Amino acid sequence: MHIAILGAGAMGSLFGGLLAEAGHRVTLLDVDNAHLSAINAGGLQLTTDAGERTVTNLEALRPEAAAQAADLLIVFTKTMHTQAALAAARGALGPQTALLSLQNGLGNAERLARFADPARVMIGVTTWPADKHGPGRVSSHGAGAIRLMSADGAASPMLSRTVAALNDAGLACTADADVWAAIWEKVAFNAALNSLCAVTGCTVGELTNVADGEALALEIVAEVAAVAHAHGVAVNAAHVADNVRHALAHHRAHRPSMLQDVMAGRATEIEAINGAVVEAARSRGIAVPHTQTLLQLVRLVDAKDSQ
Ligand code: NAD
Repeated sequence: MHIAILGAGAMGSLFGGLLAEAGHRVTLLDVDNAHLSAINAGGLQLTTDAGERTVTNLEALRPEAAAQAADLLIVFTKTMHTQAALAAARGALGPQTALLSLQNGLGNAERLARFADPARVMIGVTTWPADKHGPGRVSSHGAGAIRLMSADGAASPMLSRTVAALNDAGLACTADADVWAAIWEKVAFNAALNSLCAVTGCTVGELTNVADGEALALEIVAEVAAVAHAHGVAVNAAHVADNVRHALAHHRAHRPSMLQDVMAGRATEIEAINGAVVEAARSRGIAVPHTQTLLQLVRLVDAKDSQ
């Protein structure tokens, strides 16, 4: 397949590198000129549990330079950059191009559907982790998986080809009609731990430095689960609560991406996480006081960083 990756940071470069190694034709599209130049000059330096290597059989371009429609375009910008990125990358979008988002947060299918027939939009969730270590260099360690489906819920050759391509790359992908529950469960987890850490500067483990830190995180999970249930999404709140407790106990030194963004003075994905939950709660008349307060606090942090 010809696969374009729009937003070739940590996740996009990891996926692009693995798909190129599996023999697919990969075009990375990004606005980070230093990253593009490093890849075009010396290849993508990829480190996974399989070792460190250089992937050279891919091209790296600015989005506006994309001149050929891809079979599949995977969006891996941060959620607040999706719209601008797709608008610039119109050259990669043809009448047959399938679009996939595995970004965190809510509203991703809707954002993609502004640029393609909704029947060609796929949505999913991934537990693969990735980090970027400067221009041209990314890593990922440990195991992950992908669950995805067509945004309209239909099975299609496009969906099967996409699942097969991601599996060629060793990314453990399954088509799963319950993906909305998985997306909301990840949102519940992130709404709790990402926003609490972003506001306090705490690592995940440091949230338990006060007696009611865990209870606060679990209140947020309960709020998000209630909103999901009101929208007919069967989120397993007990399962998310277990994952939060596990993270608090075992991933103590972890700095969630939202905290990393705050520390680096970058905008956060708060609108697609807490922001989207608050909006979804409002439409059902549900109160989500903790999620809403954290939204307001992270907005203040974001606004301070952008001054
Ligand atoms: P990242 O910041 O490393 O990469 C985003 C890339 O998008 C950057 O290279 C940036 O230059 C590029 N970009 C910004 N504006 C653009 C534009 N207009 N056109 C093209 N490219 C543009 O982020 P990431 O960690 O790879 O995360 C991407 C998405 O995946 C996010 O939604 C995140 O929540 C999600 N996610 C991340 C992880 C992880 O471990 N990193 C895991 C699961 C999901």
